Amino acid sequence: MGNTPTWLLQQLIPPLLLTYFYFAWKISTFELGPHLLNDPSIYRFISYFYLIFPTLSIFLITLLYIRLYFLPSSQSIPPFDPPPAIRNRQVILQCLSPAQAKAIRLADNVPHDDDDPMLERCYRGKCGGRWKPARARHCTLCGRCRAGWDHHCVFFANCLSAPYMRTFLALLLYTPPTIFIISLPLYKSLYSRAKEAYFHSKSDDSIRQKWWDWGYSWVIAGGPIGRYAGGTVLGWRKLDKLDEDGGGLVRLNIGLMVVFGIILALITIGLATTTLSLILKGDLTIDRGRSSAHGQALSAIYRLKSQGKHIPPHLESNLSRFSDRRWFFVPLPRELQTQDREGIILQTLEHERPYDHGWRQNLRIVLGSMTSWIYPWNAIRKGMGEEVFLWPITEDVEKRLREDAERRAKEGMLSERT
Ligand SMILES: [Zn+2]
Ligand SMILES: [Zn+2]
Repeated sequence: MGNTPTWLLQQLIPPLLLTYFYFAWKISTFELGPHLLNDPSIYRFISYFYLIFPTLSIFLITLLYIRLYFLPSSQSIPPFDPPPAIRNRQVILQCLSPAQAKAIRLADNVPHDDDDPMLERCYRGKCGGRWKPARARHCTLCGRCRAGWDHHCVFFANCLSAPYMRTFLALLLYTPPTIFIISLPLYKSLYSRAKEAYFHSKSDDSIRQKWWDWGYSWVIAGGPIGRYAGGTVLGWRKLDKLDEDGGGLVRLNIGLMVVFGIILALITIGLATTTLSLILKGDLTIDRGRSSAHGQALSAIYRLKSQGKHIPPHLESNLSRFSDRRWFFVPLPRELQTQDREGIILQTLEHERPYDHGWRQNLRIVLGSMTSWIYPWNAIRKGMGEEVFLWPITEDVEKRLREDAERRAKEGMLSERT
């Protein structure tokens, strides 16, 4: 049920965006470009630029957009069973905690062993018991688990997963300059036209009656700002009708196009900034959501404890569910392996971040390179390959885990438990 607004938005936004870009392309190529060409005060090369640039950049933006929109529903879905290296436990791998494994095995009437790692599997939606590698998440809208899942994006009605992060980011970064460049020659004249439209609407009798004196205009437009905008639009339309050429390059729909463009540019700048800062920190959007859910559970428990109240079990379970601390199976060197123990299960430490390799390396892992991912011919292609199913952990954490595992094996200690 909580998905209904998202579903509705993702039906509305894609046609709206494509319409905007088509309209922007049409106006700039067939009206703005020729207009600048006819203006002797404008440098020739600027006019030619305006004749060519919109086609190139909007074509590119549309291409990247279509790429994300039409990503197959199978994108980044892990194989049903993990690859042999993981099945045979030859590598360090993220697994369930011994406590979780025990609960599942108990329910299945299977004998449990704390040293025997259990890989996570998903039984929701269409997953049907599919292997769920580290950093994979289940998208409730698509009903599938995807490796390196970031979020389900209403802008292109599809999941965003790590391998296509560079396509997404390039799209976000190409959009604001394109919008800015296309609307730049129009800002000044549209601004004075909007002012003129506002004053016209105030002085026009029929608009005053229909809008300004009409009490419901406050309600319909959603407050004073909307009321001014509504009045201006009405005045603008009237001005356009009075003009011989219907308003030309300062007509109402071009004004609305530019306003829509400004809003879209601001949204994309915001999204690009947050997405990039998350990648630099080695996080995906979902991680931020999880860590804030963890923080909320933590502070709720703290508050209840300080009031001496009972702590409801769902808070406790949220705390462990959203915890940043992960469990890893660490294979032991051959000489330390025994008949019934091939490795040790350890938990990461409080502030250990196994997937944060430092900003440079984080960029390289997710985007495929430091800078060259931004070129269109790279951005359109998939970034991460198979490593998305076995996300690399940092050397530091790997070293710490291996040393800890060996020490425990030598001292005859068992795997960690919760
Ligand atoms: Zn799933
Ligand atoms: Zn999805």
